[in-house]
Amino acid sequence: MSGNQAASSGRLVVVAAPSGAGKTTLTHALIERMKARGTPAAFSVSFTTRPPRSGERNGVHYHFVDEVMFEAMVRKNEFLEHAHVFGRRYGTGRVVTEALLAEGKQIFLDIDWQGARQVRERLPGQTLLLFVLPPSLEELERRLRGRGQDSEETIRRRMKAAEEEIHHAPEFDHRVVNDDFNRALNELERLVLPVSP
Ligand code: ADP
Ligand code: 5GP
Repeated sequence: MSGNQAASSGRLVVVAAPSGAGKTTLTHALIERMKARGTPAAFSVSFTTRPPRSGERNGVHYHFVDEVMFEAMVRKNEFLEHAHVFGRRYGTGRVVTEALLAEGKQIFLDIDWQGARQVRERLPGQTLLLFVLPPSLEELERRLRGRGQDSEETIRRRMKAAEEEIHHAPEFDHRVVNDDFNRALNELERLVLPVSP
């Protein structure tokens, strides 16, 4: 699939990565750059059944819902994609995503490989799948520790999950190694922006 499409047509840009690879920092910087260039871009806010972490706000970081509500949404076909991740349920709302696409926005989805697969199946041709890789597993662990958010047990769980997630990197359209931050940001920008004439 081509990495670059006309900016006027909306597109879903899935950015997946093992936790700690730098995806959040990179995508925020990328969206700022796109806005500065006048390219309409937005973040998709997912639904999840996991409880909010401190500092997370409902409707901003996630829409926090209970199992019953999530299951009802599944039954009513209200998700573009949904999956179990770390024992919790996560999903992308269908109606809001389709509305943003119709507005011609590039919508960034922070979802896992299972969701990426479903989005590509549902909207082939309107989906760009990007995977952010750490330079090494050792560096990934250093970043997780450096972020200072997780317990030792959580870090061990995330490192195990990282190997599983990285296993699916070949299914994505492009892989970007987040070694030097600005180099990786420039590479992502080239992939999401239309080619200049
Ligand atoms: P993710 O969203 O993938 O879990 P974060 O964006 O939270 O990861 O980044 C994890 C940590 O790594 C943060 O402390 C961030 O500042 C740091 N980081 C991100 N990119 C780099 C980089 N290229 N080099 C060194 N540290 C980085
Ligand atoms: P966290 O709970 O740490 O915010 O996210 C855990 C994992 O769930 C991350 O890999 C994230 O990309 C993934 N995730 C977040 N939202 C969604 C979603 O809507 N769908 C899917 N499939 N995965 C999601």
